[in-house]
Amino acid sequence: SDSAHERLFAGLNPQQREAAEYRGAALLIVAGAGSGKTSVLTRRIAGLLQSREAWPSQILAITFTNKAAAEMRERVQALVGDTAQGMWISTFHSACVRILRREAETIGKTQSFTIYDSGDTRALLKRIIKGLDADTLGFTVAGAAARISKLKNELTDIETYARSANLSDPQEVMFLEIFRQYTRQLRSANAFDFDDLIAETVFLFRAFPKVAALYQRRFRHILVDEYQDTNHAQYSLIRELTMPIAPAIADELEAQGHHVDRMRDPLGVIPGASLTVVGDSDQSIYAFRGADIRNIVEFERDFPGAKVVLLEQNYRSTQNILSAANSVIANNFDRKDKKLWTAVGDGDKIIGFTGYSGHDEAQFVADEIEKLHAAGMAYSEIAVFYRTNAQTRALEEIFIRSALPYRIMGGTKFYERAEIKDAMAYLTAVANPDDALALRRILNTPKRGIGPATETQLGSYADDNGVSFRQAMRDAGSLGLGPKVTAAILQLAGLLDTATEMVDPANPAGASPVADVLTYLLDESGYLDALRNSRDPQDEARAENVDELVAVTREFARNNPDGGLIDFLTEVSLVAAADEIDDSSGTVSLMTLHTAKGLEYDAVFLTGIEEDLLPHRMSANEPGGPAEERRLFYVGITRAKKRLFLSLAMTRAQFGETAVAMPSRYLQEIPADLIDWKQSPGTANGRGGSQSRALNARRPGLGSGSGSSGSGSSGSGSRWNDSPGSGGYGAGGGRAPDRPKAEWPNRVTGQVRDNGDLELVAGDRIRHSDFGDGRVTAVTGEGAKRVAHVQFEKVGAKKLLIKIAPIEKL
Ligand code: ATP
Ligand code: MG
Repeated sequence: SDSAHERLFAGLNPQQREAAEYRGAALLIVAGAGSGKTSVLTRRIAGLLQSREAWPSQILAITFTNKAAAEMRERVQALVGDTAQGMWISTFHSACVRILRREAETIGKTQSFTIYDSGDTRALLKRIIKGLDADTLGFTVAGAAARISKLKNELTDIETYARSANLSDPQEVMFLEIFRQYTRQLRSANAFDFDDLIAETVFLFRAFPKVAALYQRRFRHILVDEYQDTNHAQYSLIRELTMPIAPAIADELEAQGHHVDRMRDPLGVIPGASLTVVGDSDQSIYAFRGADIRNIVEFERDFPGAKVVLLEQNYRSTQNILSAANSVIANNFDRKDKKLWTAVGDGDKIIGFTGYSGHDEAQFVADEIEKLHAAGMAYSEIAVFYRTNAQTRALEEIFIRSALPYRIMGGTKFYERAEIKDAMAYLTAVANPDDALALRRILNTPKRGIGPATETQLGSYADDNGVSFRQAMRDAGSLGLGPKVTAAILQLAGLLDTATEMVDPANPAGASPVADVLTYLLDESGYLDALRNSRDPQDEARAENVDELVAVTREFARNNPDGGLIDFLTEVSLVAAADEIDDSSGTVSLMTLHTAKGLEYDAVFLTGIEEDLLPHRMSANEPGGPAEERRLFYVGITRAKKRLFLSLAMTRAQFGETAVAMPSRYLQEIPADLIDWKQSPGTANGRGGSQSRALNARRPGLGSGSGSSGSGSSGSGSRWNDSPGSGGYGAGGGRAPDRPKAEWPNRVTGQVRDNGDLELVAGDRIRHSDFGDGRVTAVTGEGAKRVAHVQFEKVGAKKLLIKIAPIEKL
């Protein structure tokens, strides 16, 4: 109804509303950060559903991360209710996996194909490069992986590449061989790598127009967020999906019983889907992965008659933050100038800080976070960004010391830990018997006395006889191996075969839950026992991580009652870095600038704003490198709603040594009056504004003797001896207000808390400074590693390291 329609679009500004209501074939929304691009996409979907112009199943929305997808689905649901079920809102990768699983047989795969992540790809390439002695020609795993990825993103498959390769160049011949072996092994393992997911879907559509037509007919409205970061393969996928369906194929669809009659135009053509893309070329930060800014620039050419809407009002940030962002990005030439404005008001000034060292900088961040928290800001509204994962070490050390609750998104992710990869390899080997990589990983894990020579023998046997690695294991008896080794191989093969039966949906008892299969594998293989009986203290934690994975499979079963093993493996392989963000958990989020895209926080800390980090030293000599790094800085700045902190250090430990760091060239691009430079602790020359002079003096090209002021300093050591709070960051900043939660002195002093003597047993009630009250359900571990398992009233189950947790017994 009209009033429901009005309600849906209430609050949108005229340009946003125009974009949400436009009904042509192609729409491009270009606008700066925080101007409501993602919000408009969401409203547009809700509008299509509410007016019944589209069924949910006719909508395909592409977001940059799974988390963004979940958020968009939630918002649409909140706007129009349960009618939102059945929409495809997902990342490019997830959408392609769904299509490929359905159509696997058409392209010679089976439905149970495995998805190789970058770690798997590297493992495979390592073996290939070694086998070919390609390292003597200068080939590295990382180099080969990047080159293959680039080719796939450009939709160049091995056959196409082979045709154009220069065969008189030994380098190129070698690379061709690496690429060929890599492709062959993926094929025989019934596996796709990440880039394949997109490329193979495009190839599928191009080779099988009737298959393509099914999806072209199905999706009538396609919407793409963060379009500036699409690469050629993704762009091609969108083109395929929005292609009109020719009359002959439309006839065939009709003959197969698909209802298409009302879709067809007078010539019998089914017109292509409507396409909406939104993006901001100033936020294009994935050129290194083949993202092509031209996709957005040339949209009007590719989709003639496209409507273009510009949005200029920013609803996210204060004017000070926005002005900083505007003046930084204005230094990139070759862009359309657009000035964002906001009605929010100036807000607080940006705070700048120069520490002596990375630790010093981290302490500043931790202290400021405590101040914000004390003033009422939730930890979950605070984020710390950095350019490289290596920077997290100092931050983590200080955060742990200060007992600040934090989470790292990306980086050493849970799923990248060796023990988790081992457990996942067991599951993968069960799901996909052709996956030799997974089988090789677990062949001698835990140790079974199966050495590399035996592994090679099994591999050759499989190759020579055209059977899978798994079959080779079953045939181990005929390989002339020693009796012990043979028995070990047969036992593992038997174990996997039993597990494969357990997960078979055709099993008369029904497929077993993933958790049961995993537990069976871990127990029967001896993997868990090996960890538990190990003398390596790390293995205790590893065993806990594996337990955590079992818990993940249980949770998966609760959320996906019909989900089988393959669904679980798919979900895990698609978990993007930003997906681990859990707003409810009340933790500060730490992440790289790349991961931060599309997100927003009340307070943002941008750390390591130094030359060699931002711009990253690898980018300095790349064409377009410094401009892309500037966009990254722009992305970081524009995540902040209310407070922005920029920090750097005078010396930074990197690559095993401590080097003098220079302030980033981008800092000069922010008008000085927008930043309030806080004094670095221990700096002799004055307070407040002097820091900016000190900074200017150290700027490359601006002052003399740059950098020397920091290098020899006694530095951060003294900081630790300062009495808490009094070290202050200068005149204007003020010291942290007295904390209301005085009972948690560790937060204030930054001292290591020590509850080492606290006696706790199951049944005790405790209070945690952030999680509130809860009951101890178990205590495990010993000494400094004692862990309390606590069921909290508000936040559910948590495991706490007793020694440092901010808890007291009630
Ligand atoms: P980015 O470029 O960072 O992806 P974006 O253009 O997608 O940003 P959104 O995330 O959609 O911007 O919106 C930024 C913030 O502004 C959100 O908090 C959103 O709820 C809010 N917002 C958007 N439009 C309006 C509006 N018309 N009125 C009030 N708030 C709005
Ligand atoms: Mg957005």
